[in-house]
Amino acid sequence: MYANSLIELDRAHLIHPVASYRSHEKHGVRVLASAKGATVTDASGKQLIDGFAGLWCVNAGYGHESIVEAAARQMRELPYATAYFGLGSEPAIRLASELADRAPGDLNHVYFTLGGSDAVDSTIRFIRYYWNARGRPERDQFISVEQGYHGSSTAGAGLTALPAFHAGFGLPFDWQHKIPSHYAYRNPVGEDPQAIIEASLAALRSKVEAIGPERVAAFYVEPIQGSGGVLVPPKGWVKAMREFCREHDILFVADEVITGFGRTGPLFACSEEGVVPDFMTTAKGLTSGYVPMGAVFMADHVYETIAEGAGAAAIGHGYTYSAHPVSAAVGLEVLTLYENGLLDNGVKAGRRLMQGLESLRDHPLVGDVRGRGMLAAVELVADKINKTPLPASAEPARRIFDRAWENGLVIRAFGNGVLGYAPPLCCTETEIDAIVERTRLTLDETLEDPDVRGALRV
Ligand code: PLP
Repeated sequence: MYANSLIELDRAHLIHPVASYRSHEKHGVRVLASAKGATVTDASGKQLIDGFAGLWCVNAGYGHESIVEAAARQMRELPYATAYFGLGSEPAIRLASELADRAPGDLNHVYFTLGGSDAVDSTIRFIRYYWNARGRPERDQFISVEQGYHGSSTAGAGLTALPAFHAGFGLPFDWQHKIPSHYAYRNPVGEDPQAIIEASLAALRSKVEAIGPERVAAFYVEPIQGSGGVLVPPKGWVKAMREFCREHDILFVADEVITGFGRTGPLFACSEEGVVPDFMTTAKGLTSGYVPMGAVFMADHVYETIAEGAGAAAIGHGYTYSAHPVSAAVGLEVLTLYENGLLDNGVKAGRRLMQGLESLRDHPLVGDVRGRGMLAAVELVADKINKTPLPASAEPARRIFDRAWENGLVIRAFGNGVLGYAPPLCCTETEIDAIVERTRLTLDETLEDPDVRGALRV
């Protein structure tokens, strides 16, 4: 009764992000009521393992009293403090300092946002400002990678390279360019790591030449492409792209909104290759999703150029909720949890997750298994030899998501038949094994589904 009326209210009033409104009206909302650890409970009392940590964000798991306490304490003491006109709050200052201490290289300056999209959007603004400050206003062209996701702000969605974010929105802008993804499973040069790195370098070089080398402002990468289907570049790819940008005086932005805060193992994924970007964007795991917050990390030389360029003038970029003290208090507590066992557990659990998912390779529907740490994907195909995707007419994403739900598992099912995994880093071995077992069960049931079976060539 309670749930049914919520479903009606939702249908009538709540606009959902990245959804077909018509199909959402048809299927209705699933209401989540509570959660603890890696388990979520829906309004009917059904319990599920959250194999996607909400939206790749609840890295610490649900129901951490110490996080709740940190937020409550801060709300009682000082629920809000602007960071405008020279004011500040202790948690925001401390969090910026703790993050700068742990960030790669000289990423010593932190600009807090409300999430990932405005973190990316902030980098676009800062980068334009930077090149103007250097007296190079013509450097106003931006490059990103096909299958990339850089959020949903007006400018950031144009760096994003997923069709749903462009169609009907008049995007991308003509200053936004793309190079092909490293996507190993479907790369025209094959799966050889060196060949993929060389192909990406060649693509970036020719894109820069086509735009005009003196015009390119910045290049954006995700250390692992998330929303494009968890596409893991070969080892050395990020470093090679970073070096190219350094040689060509192009700013290099690592978008670590998903990969940051232990998702792939260490606190920041780009440190795995010793890469120091000019900017790094983060969000999600920064507060483990308990409250909204993102952070832009800016290298010393960028900060100095912007500061010198502006002189006494105000740099007009800010939000009412920049450096929010409650979010910062949560961020400080979450950081403590990462360093008191959560990162280590994530590494162990990630190894088990990858082993478990690898064991699904023999399943007739599984074409590829990929990932690093607690970030993984299983790509389903209708035909393993030709890597034919499951036909959209079989609605693989919806069917698999629904079936996994019935089996007590939340996963991300992308439209093209890729299953995404990003469990909380606190998962036990038993929970990881259950994620894998429930996936196998879901795939077995999918194979028996006459509508899907008819589309298969297995
Ligand atoms: N950048 C990347 C790499 C992301 O994965 C996301 C969100 O998934 C964003 C930016 C946007 O973050 P948000 O949804 O917090 O605005």
